[in-house]
Amino acid sequence: MTTTLPAYDEVVARYEPVIGLETHVELGTNTKMWCGCPTDFGGEPNTRVCPVCLGLPGSLPVANKAAIEATIRIGLALNCSIAEWCRFARKNYFYPDMPKNFQISQYDEPLCFDGYLDVEVNGELVRIGIERVHLEEDTGKTLHVGGATGRIHGATESLVDYNRAGIPLVEIVTKPIPGTGALAPEIARAYVAELRDVVRSLGVSDVRMEEGSLRCDVNTSLNLPGEEWGTRTETKNVNSLRSVERAVRSEMLRQASVLDAGGRIVQETRHFHEDTGDTTSGRSKETATDYRYFPEPDLVPLAPDTAWVAELKAALPELPRLRRKRIQQDWGLSDLDMESVVNAGAVELIEATVAAGATPAAARKWWLGELSRRANETGVELADVGATPAQVAELQGLVDAGKLNDKLARAVLEGVVAGEGSPTEIMTNRNLEVVSDTGALTAAVDEAIAANPDIADKIRSGKVAAAGALVGAVMKTTRGQADAKTVRELILERLGAA
Ligand SMILES: [Zn+2]
Repeated sequence: MTTTLPAYDEVVARYEPVIGLETHVELGTNTKMWCGCPTDFGGEPNTRVCPVCLGLPGSLPVANKAAIEATIRIGLALNCSIAEWCRFARKNYFYPDMPKNFQISQYDEPLCFDGYLDVEVNGELVRIGIERVHLEEDTGKTLHVGGATGRIHGATESLVDYNRAGIPLVEIVTKPIPGTGALAPEIARAYVAELRDVVRSLGVSDVRMEEGSLRCDVNTSLNLPGEEWGTRTETKNVNSLRSVERAVRSEMLRQASVLDAGGRIVQETRHFHEDTGDTTSGRSKETATDYRYFPEPDLVPLAPDTAWVAELKAALPELPRLRRKRIQQDWGLSDLDMESVVNAGAVELIEATVAAGATPAAARKWWLGELSRRANETGVELADVGATPAQVAELQGLVDAGKLNDKLARAVLEGVVAGEGSPTEIMTNRNLEVVSDTGALTAAVDEAIAANPDIADKIRSGKVAAAGALVGAVMKTTRGQADAKTVRELILERLGAA
């Protein structure tokens, strides 16, 4: 069944969206939430398990202090209040990847609550309310094999791997966000991007969306102006920033077409499809009562010491948005230039390159120019392109010292990215250094003069500007390695025009 979707402009002219985001962050602790099993990614299936994370009878959980500390720090960075006393709760549901048949989570007593995160969209600050930040445990993974799609339908076997079961997971829930109008998709994206930067700055998770250590569920509803908020749907596990934006937009269009036709929105979870950019119906959404929450009887309540919380608060790093503002000023960049640096994921790289001795302008030129182009071509993150900030600073040092011109520097950088060594080594090994030695250049200059008698005459008669053509000829025969300034001086000198 295909329906023609209304135009986005028409939808936002007629309906008001309300969005909300639930984000799960897998913490980078060394051990799991309730046991001492290691958390590192990629072990043989079911090798990082013990009676506790397998939920065997008689085993008892013990809370991981590092995970509690990380959660409190996230809460503080999001301007939340920290509970002086709270409890974990059992969330009962039956999934094969949940060995205990319940998840230890938090329900009505989250560790952190009532905060906010300011995000910038088109130069405007938007304050996103944070409802809660709570701590829970991750599930294992189910793998359906034998079918075409990797889904359970058509599969011949289903395999479970409990290595991930019990890894600490922080859930960050926004308050409903009304009033965003046409900007709803962009604001959703900007929030997740800012949240990712905040969590990364705290060093508590690697927050890689593509690896699932940051996962996002997007709630969307539409209502007519002046009327109550509409029924919301929850689009699950949207795994890139671009998809967050697309998922909100696509749900707004779909819901508008249902409402336009006189239909009702069903409260349900929906799946986002990367390939088509639309969502399809998942399961009807459970309500809290379906989970039969009750306080976890195997754990003592959690009462973080206020002095400890104050200490954690005092030690928070500079938050990304404020840090970006400071850097923008230090580097003298316009809003637009700073935006391109941020979008390229180059803030830290440029910062480190400047720390290694380059000017901000030079550092920015390499990372946003040659290296960004390369990263795009090879489909890797800028940080993984193969050049380090120290190498880029060294390269620029060689340019500043007159040993490399722009073209030669690009050739050296190619060698750096290919892993041939340091810029200085590559310059020497590949014999790429600028030749400014007069003796070595005179022959090439004389050759160019002899080959271009008309131009030489013009210069002799005082048309010094014509020297450019001869400089070009010398650069060609020296494969771009001649020092252009020296060549020009030599030409003028030999033609008596100096
Ligand atoms: Zn374990």
